[in-house]
Amino acid sequence: MTLLISTTPALARDIDGKAISAQVLDEVREEVLNLARQHIYPALAVLLVGDDPASEVYVRNKLLRAKDVGIRSLEYRLAENASQHQVLELIAQLNADVTVNGILVQLPLPGRIDEAAVIHAIDPIKDVDGFHRENVGGLVQGMEVLTPCTPSGCMRLLQETCGDVSGLHAVVIGRSNIVGKPMATLLLQAHCSVSVVHSRSVDAPALCRLADIVVAAVGRPGLIDASWLKPGAVVIDVGINRITDESGSHLVGDVDYASARTVASAITPVPGGVGPMTIAYLLKNTLIASQMQHEAQVHEHTSASHLMVS
Ligand code: NAD
Repeated sequence: MTLLISTTPALARDIDGKAISAQVLDEVREEVLNLARQHIYPALAVLLVGDDPASEVYVRNKLLRAKDVGIRSLEYRLAENASQHQVLELIAQLNADVTVNGILVQLPLPGRIDEAAVIHAIDPIKDVDGFHRENVGGLVQGMEVLTPCTPSGCMRLLQETCGDVSGLHAVVIGRSNIVGKPMATLLLQAHCSVSVVHSRSVDAPALCRLADIVVAAVGRPGLIDASWLKPGAVVIDVGINRITDESGSHLVGDVDYASARTVASAITPVPGGVGPMTIAYLLKNTLIASQMQHEAQVHEHTSASHLMVS
């Protein structure tokens, strides 16, 4: 009898963001139905300034998914040459409108407009992107606040893949306000030991090789290959980069998928990994925002009745 021993190394399994995001959307749909029984109807306002083709696609997808789960969506468009004053005025209207629960301003905004001023004009309780400084501060302090969608989606992917991540060493590559920093905060909250690697880090691959979990959010196609990874590491690739090669134009991540999967134990593909999770968590945030606003109204009403009685 001949014993056949395979010499092909085991490849990492794919972390299926499409399937996991579909679960999240099912959870949101169910909760939207529950709220409808209490006559609460979550609504998301999406504001697009200008006609950037990539932003158009993102906005269209967000609106379609909102409709899928029963969240009412309102689309607002301002011309490329709209003034900052016009944007701020529209946000003030949406802040004041009690039928609007979530406000999302599609980024990037045209260069003339101060992005930070626009983000901080949004009422924090309607800030479904979780970028307002009040939400950022609350997240760092471990409070229940609206949290950036992409890192929240990555955490869900990790929970579904690893279960409890407590005690694991996570390396986040990238330190942006929208992905890297909140990602590191969420991993810390989940009791990981966290390192953040960035453009000034000395020997980023060596730091990364210490990681049980790697989250790449850099914006450089294929930067992270097998040589950056510890055998068995779980890899979450946030990067979305469009490249053109001999087979045409396509999207790739920050991780060299073919190389990394020979060493990692699990990896998100691009597309089909983190991308669908971001939209799912935007809708989850819209739901959370409408629940928070409803509770705040009930609380206000109860306090007012107590004042009238006393
Ligand atoms: P960013 O440009 O704001 O930040 C990039 C970070 O990478 C910086 O902090 C920088 O220090 C770091 N960096 C640059 N070169 C590096 C290097 N050689 N080694 C280590 N670190 C390096 O980018 P971002 O907004 O955080 O986005 C990162 C990527 O994630 C992009 O490809 C973006 O398209 C993608 N993205 C995807 C989603 C999604 O839904 N999947 C959401 C947001 C961003």
